[in-house]
Amino acid sequence: MATALITGSARGIGAAIALRLAKDGYNIALNDISEDMFEGNDIMDKIKAEGVECEKFICDVSDYAQVEQTVKAIKERFGSIEVLVNNAGITRDGLMARMSEEQYDMVVAVNQKSVFNMCKFVGSMMMRQRCGRIINLSSVAGVYGNPGQMNYSATKAAIIGMTKTVAKELGSRGITCNAVAPGFIKTPMTDKLTDAQKEAMINQVAMKRYGEVEEIAGVVSFLASPDASYVTGQVIEISGGLMM
Ligand code: NAP
Repeated sequence: MATALITGSARGIGAAIALRLAKDGYNIALNDISEDMFEGNDIMDKIKAEGVECEKFICDVSDYAQVEQTVKAIKERFGSIEVLVNNAGITRDGLMARMSEEQYDMVVAVNQKSVFNMCKFVGSMMMRQRCGRIINLSSVAGVYGNPGQMNYSATKAAIIGMTKTVAKELGSRGITCNAVAPGFIKTPMTDKLTDAQKEAMINQVAMKRYGEVEEIAGVVSFLASPDASYVTGQVIEISGGLMM
């Protein structure tokens, strides 16, 4: 049975993607930065209830050495990784004039360097397998920019360049690499916004509502499926018509 690794998957969009890929029949390697994220959390039970195997691998995806070890551990446990979803991401928002160097560097490490770390180690495994699907979580902030998110939008734009580069480097080995760019999705990340901020955002969306995590998971499932075998290097916006 094929295995999917989803980073930052204890909750939010990552957990929804993991559950959807379990329903699609993949064994699931969950990841998050700390064990605490899985406490009082039934994601592993829900995945196992789909009849697939599931294991969690605690690792800071911004740490090169930890990622190398984790990818080895997943290979030992499951034998291979057919689908990699680079989902882990953080925000440390602030207007550029007030943004600290630490705020900038931390977001770059977690959102951007993690994609290099994972693509490098999982990508070499996929090259030997001569098959694989890599799906990266970008954002509309990376496509259009967003005030207060210079750090975040920089990383999400970088992910688009990384996606196209990986697609070109690994395409001849039967590996596809695509990105999805969600708009405003209902998760703990967006729950932090004020009511005024939420209303202002919804007003810009053609469908006049937030997206649900399952609506991101559905597109990721398609990109991992045989139907997407000739789709690579693409960025699919999932934003309810935020910008057209
Ligand atoms: P979330 O609810 O905050 O989930 C992200 C998960 O990643 C958290 O469990 C988080 O743990 C974990 N994580 C953070 N740093 C990590 C690290 N260094 N190593 C491993 N795991 C780490 O976020 P989300 O809203 O589901 O977003 C998921 C992805 O979609 C992100 O890449 C985000 O940028 C992107 N996205 C989200 C939206 C949206 O509207 N929500 C829109 C566009 C794009 P902690 O809680 O401990 O940090």
